Amino acid sequence: MRYLIQTWGCQMNTHDSEKLAGILEALGHRSADDIRSADLLLLNTCSIREKAEEKVFSHLGSLRPLKDLRPDLIIGLCGCVAQQKGEEVFRRSKLVDFVLGPRAIASLPSILEEVRSRRSRPMDREKRDDSIRYDALRAQRGPGPRAFITVMEGCNKTCTYCIVPTTRGREVSKPAEIVLREAVALSRAGYREVELLGQNVNAYRDGAIHLDGLLRRLQEVDGIRRLRFTTSHPTHLSEEIILAMRECPSVCNALHLPAQSGSDSVLERMRRGYTRRRYLDRIERLRRAVPDIGLSTDIIVGYPGETRSEFDDTLLLLRQVEFDQVYSFVYSPRPGTDAVLEGDAVKREEKECRLHELQSLQQEIQRRRNQALVGSMVEVLVDGFSRMGGSILKGRTTSNRVVNFPGTASRMGQFGSVQVKAAGPNSLEGRWIEAPRS
Ligand code: SF4
Repeated sequence: MRYLIQTWGCQMNTHDSEKLAGILEALGHRSADDIRSADLLLLNTCSIREKAEEKVFSHLGSLRPLKDLRPDLIIGLCGCVAQQKGEEVFRRSKLVDFVLGPRAIASLPSILEEVRSRRSRPMDREKRDDSIRYDALRAQRGPGPRAFITVMEGCNKTCTYCIVPTTRGREVSKPAEIVLREAVALSRAGYREVELLGQNVNAYRDGAIHLDGLLRRLQEVDGIRRLRFTTSHPTHLSEEIILAMRECPSVCNALHLPAQSGSDSVLERMRRGYTRRRYLDRIERLRRAVPDIGLSTDIIVGYPGETRSEFDDTLLLLRQVEFDQVYSFVYSPRPGTDAVLEGDAVKREEKECRLHELQSLQQEIQRRRNQALVGSMVEVLVDGFSRMGGSILKGRTTSNRVVNFPGTASRMGQFGSVQVKAAGPNSLEGRWIEAPRS
């Protein structure tokens, strides 16, 4: 069959799609050029927010004419909406032929057989360790220089607003020796940057090996010049991880550390497990160890019952920390989470206003921080063409800033220096300086 995989959501989903493609390629199927030439369409979905989930069902609706034209087209729903909704998917959409949860990907071959025999509309949502055990060397990865390795899956925390423990299950870590083997293979395949993925990645544990130990081992892999990891939880940002970030040259000076709120009372209602003071202490400790750290975070605005003064505490946190990037969203009620049971008198319009206020403040902070880099030299890894179009390339600094600069495709995958000429809130612009070093 010719297959096409459409992916929504986080890097974990992107990498899961690479694994699903690997399973299909091993069965002899080949990727289709476009949706019209596909015999099999996999939708790898995200349910982190209501909007994300609704997007999937409206997309399914738009596939009706194609399915009417090609009734033999097989449509499979995978990922977090599949896990969360299960049977309901079949009730809501007659177009879906099977449902496959993110931790059950190994059953794709048998499920396809069942669908093709037209015996039934199968579903597998068992929370097994398929994804973590899948030999990711067979994943169909995009062209280099950056690659993902899922080192852990699931989350044992119970944040009141979050659906991840429901859709992704309990934490399981991939054995360190397998992670190392994958990194060596990726280096041989020409990848120069590896990002370790996990919903709670800094809780990684393989016996006595924690994330810091894993980073120090990966540091020794020849050819892997950059190591990143995401997503971390403040309570697991240990002294050992901070020291590994300072002492291991390959570990990038960038960290994504979701705060979610700057208010102690909201953090308590969210069951985040830390206070604002504790969060600030971790940031200060990190900045003492890695002064030029690039920091990003997630913020939920309008958590049920959030008062104006609680929101002001979040604005104050942004002013105190001065993050380089903030991913901010209005609270989205998720089915089966405790937060939906909490009363919420704050109107949607008020929440949207707060989000706008927060994003305007953060844009100013980012503009000022990026402006301070004008005139400086930054090392980038060229990883694609810029959205600016034309012959403008883009690359990333170790602190995870996007840099746009004129250049030709021959520079793809190269490291080099760029002199920063201008800066906006979300990216830098510059001129390529140094000769490439492969
Ligand atoms: S730590 Fe992250 S993934 Fe886990 S429950 Fe909390 S928000 Fe969700």
